[in-house]
Amino acid sequence: MSSAANGSGPAAGAGSAGAAGGPEMGTASPAAGESASLAVEELVAGYGEVVALDGVTVTAGAGGITAVLGANGAGKTTLLRAVSGMIKARRGRILLADHDVAGRSPEQIVRAGIAHVPEGQGVIPELTVEENLRIGMMSWRRGPRADRVAALEEEYARFKPLADRRRKLASTLSGGERQMLVIARALLARPRVLLLDEPSLGLAPRVMAQVMDLVVRLSRERGLTIVLVEQNARAALAIADHGVVLNLGRVVATADAASLAADVALRHHYLGF
Ligand code: ATP
Repeated sequence: MSSAANGSGPAAGAGSAGAAGGPEMGTASPAAGESASLAVEELVAGYGEVVALDGVTVTAGAGGITAVLGANGAGKTTLLRAVSGMIKARRGRILLADHDVAGRSPEQIVRAGIAHVPEGQGVIPELTVEENLRIGMMSWRRGPRADRVAALEEEYARFKPLADRRRKLASTLSGGERQMLVIARALLARPRVLLLDEPSLGLAPRVMAQVMDLVVRLSRERGLTIVLVEQNARAALAIADHGVVLNLGRVVATADAASLAADVALRHHYLGF
């Protein structure tokens, strides 16, 4: 078994924009750039009678990739939902840099700098690619139209297939392109922390590898702090700096990715490889 379940990691880099008392609210577009750590402390969350997270502590180091692993029902998706405000934390703290965002609305949390890409390639098929992308800028305050156009062009430069299809309906995109679209949409919110829920789900191996490469680039080139939920533990640990393993709503292991990948007992019991 790997190291104790107390959430260690290279928590560094304190940004200034945060929710609680942070200065992010007045700007036209959320501030991008500065890396920020995310620390979830003793988080309790669930659905009605179901306690899906029972005192979970996870630290995602600024600018790094943290893999969140575990079997079905472990609480991985619930963790991302609680961090993004989709469900309310019953107890615990969610620190973006030094600001506790627990209890804030999803909109406030996006503005604070946390973007969530939920499982299942959630594009709106009846809208065009560009209309889908514009949704990512809904969290922006007013501001010059030129800023929005420039932001869109920046994502088109990063995601060429989306640029070629900007006027096409999202329903015409392949699975890989849809995954690109939802990631690009999340990036348009100018996050410092990106929560990715099973981005490889349903993708062919070659496309999955491209998505994993993209995740690495976003972390290395843009300094994004990435929390990556994955069923495919082997693929996630291959790109992550750090990992945490959940089981039945509790952390059972947390360590650097290489140590987790080398832990035969852990792999056998919880990771399925
Ligand atoms: P999977 O990989 O299957 O999505 P997971 O690790 O993401 O698993 P969660 O989806 O977070 O796990 O589920 C954690 C627990 O919460 C499970 O017991 C699950 O049945 C329960 N749960 C999840 N969503 C709901 C919901 N909407 N209502 C009630 N219980 C839920």
